[in-house]
Amino acid sequence: MKNTPLSKITLEGREFFVKRDDLIDPYLAGNKYRKLYTLLKTPKSKYKKIISYGGTQSNAMLAIAAMCKDKEWEFTYYTKPISKVIKEQTFGNYYLSKYLGMKDIEIDIELYRDYIATLSINIDEDTYIIDQGGADKSAKDGLEVLAQEIRKQTKDLDIKSVATPSGTGTTALFLALALKEFTVYTTPNVGDSSYLREQMLALAKIPDNLIILEPKKKYHFAKPYPEFLQMYKKTKEAGVEFDLLYAPAMWLALLEQTDEQVLYVHSGGVSSNESMLRRYSQKFSL
Ligand SMILES: *Cc1c(COP(=O)(O)O)cnc(C)c1O
Repeated sequence: MKNTPLSKITLEGREFFVKRDDLIDPYLAGNKYRKLYTLLKTPKSKYKKIISYGGTQSNAMLAIAAMCKDKEWEFTYYTKPISKVIKEQTFGNYYLSKYLGMKDIEIDIELYRDYIATLSINIDEDTYIIDQGGADKSAKDGLEVLAQEIRKQTKDLDIKSVATPSGTGTTALFLALALKEFTVYTTPNVGDSSYLREQMLALAKIPDNLIILEPKKKYHFAKPYPEFLQMYKKTKEAGVEFDLLYAPAMWLALLEQTDEQVLYVHSGGVSSNESMLRRYSQKFSL
């Protein structure tokens, strides 16, 4: 693949560069492409089946579904019971993943935790399990490729800071490890900074160049907030569409807590905006 391009946007009078990983593919884009890089480079014949689990609107689910379709691998995805609303939607990540061939299995809420813990016990050599959200040590290689691209593309620019939002923290962590001469900013979207650090520590030691910016306010993941929608609109008007789940908190933190030149690594997820925008319009009757 060619390097993804850089765009420039101006927000509140500040200029930012954006690494356009959202342009890689409509479904398999952003950091999910980077995290699945090793599997994407794996020959088809190595596996027959991929197993994963997690949320029913997850971007990781859609990316894995797109990869499996391309590889002709079977894809089984375990979730908690799925709402009728989501099952009936003809748009959004769940719908698209099913369309790409994903088989989903609903597990009762009370059994879910234990059930997921047993998934890896009885698997054969033809099957690969991807932990929720792609929080997998194999993500390292793809983020080294990204780091290499960033190094090359910023060679003649005065940029020593990059930013990307966190869910599991896998992306920010491996990017910081591979890009030691840069400051890597991130912000938590699932839980607070200490939970994010815990998640990261399960994968590797956290390097000093990784800076976690704590949001000014406590946010709950995937809940609509007016300031998120405002941020979404502002960046869209500035010329680039970002996702509504992770990007707004990162942009708010960058604008409030940093002042140097920053390269924002677009983490993808734009495919989830349609369903999020509907939730916004229901909640705030736009
Ligand atoms: C998955 C995702 C993230 C979080 O990535 P982690 O590696 O889990 O921290 C951020 N942004 C978008 C758009 C995502 O889909």
